[in-house]
Amino acid sequence: MARQAPIDVKLRAVDSVAIHRLLQVEAMDAPAGDLYQDWSNEFITYNQALPAEHRIDLRQFHMPCDSRVVNSHYGYRRQFGRNHYGTDIKVYMGDTIRAAFSGKVRVVQNQGRKGYGKYVIIRHPNGLETTYGHLSKQLVRPDQVIKAGEPIGLGGSTGFSTGPHLHFETRLLGEKIDPEKLFCFEAGDVRGDFYIYRRNGRSQLMAAHDVSRLPETAEDAVSKAEESRAYQQQRMASRSNRSQVYKVRKGDTLTQIAKKHGITVDRLCQLNHISKLKALRPGQILKCS
Ligand SMILES: [Zn+2]
Repeated sequence: MARQAPIDVKLRAVDSVAIHRLLQVEAMDAPAGDLYQDWSNEFITYNQALPAEHRIDLRQFHMPCDSRVVNSHYGYRRQFGRNHYGTDIKVYMGDTIRAAFSGKVRVVQNQGRKGYGKYVIIRHPNGLETTYGHLSKQLVRPDQVIKAGEPIGLGGSTGFSTGPHLHFETRLLGEKIDPEKLFCFEAGDVRGDFYIYRRNGRSQLMAAHDVSRLPETAEDAVSKAEESRAYQQQRMASRSNRSQVYKVRKGDTLTQIAKKHGITVDRLCQLNHISKLKALRPGQILKCS
């Protein structure tokens, strides 16, 4: 005979699946909500302080385009006398541009000749915001939830551009990060499972099994403490809400049971819809609160 899990274990499993799904939906409703205090459909210059450390999970990365040719790197460009805050990847007009991670579309705008041209910004649950510039067409709308790899636009040369290419940026709370530190576009892959961003400049790439061995950050410890406090409160609340019951033993009287639970005999009878005169029988279950 097949061994079956007790029904309450099964129910718990169903619960955890439902809760997991709910958490995923919530994560997409407000991606990285612990990091960002606002949501806007405009380009933002953030003035919030970055956490001392933030672990960016890169594992669900999808190449933003089929091309793996990098035209121009992140950094200062003498040619234009200004900084370049992204990586330029060669694309052809009309090539499909895809979301690098699952997330929620924050900005769909056109910056004109001097800037990104038609561009899209997506916020992801891992804390990153990715920007896709110089598109010939945008295929998403603000506040749209999308999965990694889903088309978000077509390659082009709008804005400050000398030929079709994708201008791709990665930012954490507005802090620019060289995309090539996170991804190897030539290989179409991430450089590590995680990028541990550190405000002190000691950011590093890490494999998942090494991240699990890292001591927790101060922020982690605080949020864990808050979580456990909330859990304790919830437990206390559910405990006090739960009605207490008592199983009648031979020789028990209503007076004894009421006294034991700190209530009057009248209250005990009222709770159980019984008469004071009715005899108790052993094994009978009585509500006591
Ligand atoms: Zn560029």
